[in-house]
Amino acid sequence: MKIICVGRNYAAHAAELKNPISAEPVIFMKPETAQLLPRMPFFIPDFSTDIHHEVELVVKINRTGKHIQEHFANTYYDEIGIGIDFTARDKQSQLKEKSLPWELAKAFDGSAPTGKFLNKSIFTSVQNINFHLEKNGSIVQQGNSSNMLFNIDKIIAFVSSYITLKKGDLIFTGTPEGVGKVQANDVLDAFIEDQHLLTVKIK
Ligand code: ZN
Repeated sequence: MKIICVGRNYAAHAAELKNPISAEPVIFMKPETAQLLPRMPFFIPDFSTDIHHEVELVVKINRTGKHIQEHFANTYYDEIGIGIDFTARDKQSQLKEKSLPWELAKAFDGSAPTGKFLNKSIFTSVQNINFHLEKNGSIVQQGNSSNMLFNIDKIIAFVSSYITLKKGDLIFTGTPEGVGKVQANDVLDAFIEDQHLLTVKIK
C-alpha cells in the first residue's frame, strides 16, 4: 500500500504557512513504513526539533483504479478515517528553501498514524464532515471538509491520472489551520464529528 497526501488543501492553512494557493492539488507520498501501529507511541525523531501535527481526513481506497473520472470517484472508497500527517517543519523549511523534495520532512517512520475508519454511508454528505484534534485535552485544530480547495472526488480523479490507486491505499486530504509543535508527553486525540477515533502519545 501507499499513502498519498495533499498539501495546501485548505486556504487558511496555506495562508498560515505563507504558501500560495495552487491551481492543482499539491501531492506527495509517504511509504508503508510511515504507518504507526495502533496504540504505539510516536517517537520524535533525532533529526528534528520542530515536529508539527497536521490532522487530516483520510480516505481508504477500495479497489484498483487508473484515470478515474471524477463522477465515478465516489465508488472507489467506502471508508473515511482520521490521521495525523506528522511533519518535521524545520527540515521541510530547509528543503523548501533549496527547492528540494519534502520527503525527508514528511515520509519518515511513524509519520502517518490513522485511527478507526467509518463507513461513508453514515455521513449525509462527505463534503460536510467536521473533524478536530485535541492536544492534552484542548482543541488545537478544527476543520470541515466543505473547506477543502479540492474535494475528495477531485483528488481521486487527479491522483489516478498519474498514479494507479490500489485497494488499501490511503489518501490524506490536507490539514486545516492550527498546525503546531508537539513535545514529549503530549497526547493527541482526533475526532470525526463527536467520535473519538485516534489517540497518539508523543515520546
Ligand atoms: Zn498534511
